[in-house]
Amino acid sequence: MLKLDSHAAGRHFLHIPGPSPVPARVLRAISYQTIDHRGPEFGELGLEILTNIKKIFQTKSPVIIYPSSGTGAWEGALVNTLSPGDLVLMYETGQFATLWRKLAERLGLKTEFIGRPGAEGWSYGVDAAKIEERLKADTAHEIKAVCVVHNETSTGVTSNIKAVRTAIDAAKHPALLLVDTISGLASADYRHDDWGVDVTISGSQKGLMLPPGIGFNALSPRAIEASKTAKLPKAFWAWDEILESNKTGYWPSTPSTNLMYGLHEAMDMILSEGLDKVFARHERLAKACRAAVQGWGLEIQCQDPAVYSPVLTGVVTPDGVDADQLRKLILERYNLSLGTGLGKVKGRMFRIGHLGDCNELSLLAALSGCEMGMKAFGINLKGSGVLAAQEVLQG
Ligand code: PLP
Repeated sequence: MLKLDSHAAGRHFLHIPGPSPVPARVLRAISYQTIDHRGPEFGELGLEILTNIKKIFQTKSPVIIYPSSGTGAWEGALVNTLSPGDLVLMYETGQFATLWRKLAERLGLKTEFIGRPGAEGWSYGVDAAKIEERLKADTAHEIKAVCVVHNETSTGVTSNIKAVRTAIDAAKHPALLLVDTISGLASADYRHDDWGVDVTISGSQKGLMLPPGIGFNALSPRAIEASKTAKLPKAFWAWDEILESNKTGYWPSTPSTNLMYGLHEAMDMILSEGLDKVFARHERLAKACRAAVQGWGLEIQCQDPAVYSPVLTGVVTPDGVDADQLRKLILERYNLSLGTGLGKVKGRMFRIGHLGDCNELSLLAALSGCEMGMKAFGINLKGSGVLAAQEVLQG
């Protein structure tokens, strides 16, 4: 039988871009005894969670909490706001934008995918001008929603969501704006209300430092209005019953009680540190990580410095180097887990996650593992990325 606690000596360095390491405080909270999710104590917990989660999304509107992964929350956003055959405009930034499109089509929506052609688009963020141009051409208002990924986890590109809102407004188009920040929330600055987002989709296992298992939909008044007439079939995902139960701190079905303890604790940690400080810490670590990649003489997957992700860095491996074989060596030798390349960039790059419960020394340890692993693999590095990262962190 597989023993899940039989890891090698020392700690495991989990540096995939989510799930991210779960801090001891959160793990302890999750281990508290499960209580009655219809009892008085749970209602109090529920109300506190529902209040604090709004601060994380920077919204005054309700946030739906599902016992689901992020994919469920994608589905929740679409089925509550759209009807069969509706056209949605989606933007190809990488693998997660591609998977969201596939899901939309399985639900019976029509999708239009725009972006740069080929693999090139996987190195850049959303070009809001392209969205504006497409919406202006849609004089009959056939497009019902614009769907974009804020932090594209497959590439390490963080798109400018405010620019997308501005583009929709400039086109005077009524489409809803749906944004996936599954890997951006609580790591990269994200402002649901300020940026005029109608539904924000997120998950627990990234910046929130929880295990997988909670999905979120942050709503806007327009999204709630749209949900009253949207005709895609929905039952479990339907917002109306959840919003009703949430008024007293409860849910219509059983919430993931122990993950909710963890969520309560994680939000306490994040809000005590302060959202601004959390974002600044992520920016600092990301800058150090990029300095390391440049110090090694390697290419960063994101080709536009204006949209470098503070959450993860995609590292393109030199021609002829299979990034997954390299990752395998690094995991076996140094107990360091790096993210695989996905979809169009599979085998050509790996991803270093620096999100959530991450600090200077955890990042430097991961960079050391990468550097030693790449040397052992026979890659000719230009210099020491670890030293370059240290210089950024000391500066
Ligand atoms: N969207 C993004 C940006 C993601 O990073 C992920 C997962 O990593 C998903 C969607 C899918 O979420 P999940 O795997 O939790 O269902």
